[in-house]
Amino acid sequence: MSLFVASRSAFRAAAPLKRQFPIRRYATEPPSADPKKGSNNTLLYGGAAAAVLAAGYYFLSGTTPAAKKAEEKVKEASGAAADKLSAGEVKKALTGGDQGWVSLKLEEVETVNHNSKRFRFRLPEDDMVSGLQVASAILTKFQPADAEKPVIRPYTPISDEDARGYLDLLVKKYPNGPMSTHLHDMVPGQHLDVKGPVPKYPWSPNKHAHIALIAGGTGITPMYQLCRAIFDNPDDQTKVTLVFGNVSEEDILLRNELAALENRHPRRFRAFYVLDKPPKHWTGAKGYIGRDLLKTVLPEPKEENIKVFVCGPPGMMDLISGNKKSPKDQGELTGILKELGYTPEQVYKF
Ligand SMILES: Cc1cc2nc3c(=O)[nH]c(=O)nc-3n(C[C@H](O)[C@H](O)[C@H](O)COP(=O)(O)OP(=O)(O)OC[C@H]3O[C@@H](n4cnc5c(N)ncnc54)[C@H](O)[C@@H]3O)c2cc1C
Repeated sequence: MSLFVASRSAFRAAAPLKRQFPIRRYATEPPSADPKKGSNNTLLYGGAAAAVLAAGYYFLSGTTPAAKKAEEKVKEASGAAADKLSAGEVKKALTGGDQGWVSLKLEEVETVNHNSKRFRFRLPEDDMVSGLQVASAILTKFQPADAEKPVIRPYTPISDEDARGYLDLLVKKYPNGPMSTHLHDMVPGQHLDVKGPVPKYPWSPNKHAHIALIAGGTGITPMYQLCRAIFDNPDDQTKVTLVFGNVSEEDILLRNELAALENRHPRRFRAFYVLDKPPKHWTGAKGYIGRDLLKTVLPEPKEENIKVFVCGPPGMMDLISGNKKSPKDQGELTGILKELGYTPEQVYKF
């Protein structure tokens, strides 16, 4: 049995979770035949190593279209990482400082679900990387015809930091939201002004022994950026526990990518999905991300060198950790994380 599975906290989690949250098992079970369902399962901690390997093989051998697609994406990301240029040779599209706005051409748009699209922008030169480090975001800008001031909003790209020639954004459309509506109305060939990187939490391999990621909706994008940095680097052995809340099953973004990571790293990555409006067949947690679930699945506050990252809509932030005061001020730690005994130093709000 793996160390992670055998860890005290995992055992602590197992019994109550089985009773209260028939949620997500380790990557020990093959994915559903329905690609829409991905590989979300119920929690199972007691799987033998052989079962882990067998299930991992089953998934990675591409038994479903969803698994195949996710596998290809993982391979693509790993390939990009392996193909890394040495720092001196890398040409960066976004260099920060006084660079100003850079106009990027929209190359491709993919509809992901009822309200989200994935946008691929070409970088100015084909051999350029975006210039982002982990974790960081970019700013986007556009000038509405009927407004005095431009609209500026941050986004966290979901493409690999080593990917050359392009940058991908995953954007959810908000009713009457100026930037998300503008982006969703864009067609290939049009341009968008971007600027960055906007540094967030600087990651370095093994900076923490175990991190917890609590995400709501599009709050998954910075979490995915961290996951890619950790799991694409063989030297980084950080354990990751993700708790991801959404309204309905269709809203779960990057589900196949997360499932693929979980199957590649069953000993170091666990994901728990929570739905406010679950379908009948849903075996995961229901409602909002709550105290009982977090107490059960997160690394304990007294564990050494842990960090809890939170990103989501204001209501969720309020409940879990309190909102940031400003981009540079994390604000007070309140909410469930404070009640559970985490210190402000152990929590980072994106
Ligand atoms: C660091 C950072 C990274 C981000 N990365 C992404 C990303 O990768 N993909 C993405 O789609 N969005 C991301 N966002 C949110 C994004 O910046 C915009 O806030 C969002 O697209 C809405 O902008 P808008 O101009 O369309 O609407 P706004 O006028 O800004 O908002 C419209 C309505 O939606 C609400 N709203 C705004 N943002 C959110 C939210 N995140 N959750 C719930 N309600 C919200 C507002 O309260 C308002 O009622 C990120 C935000 C931050 C701070």
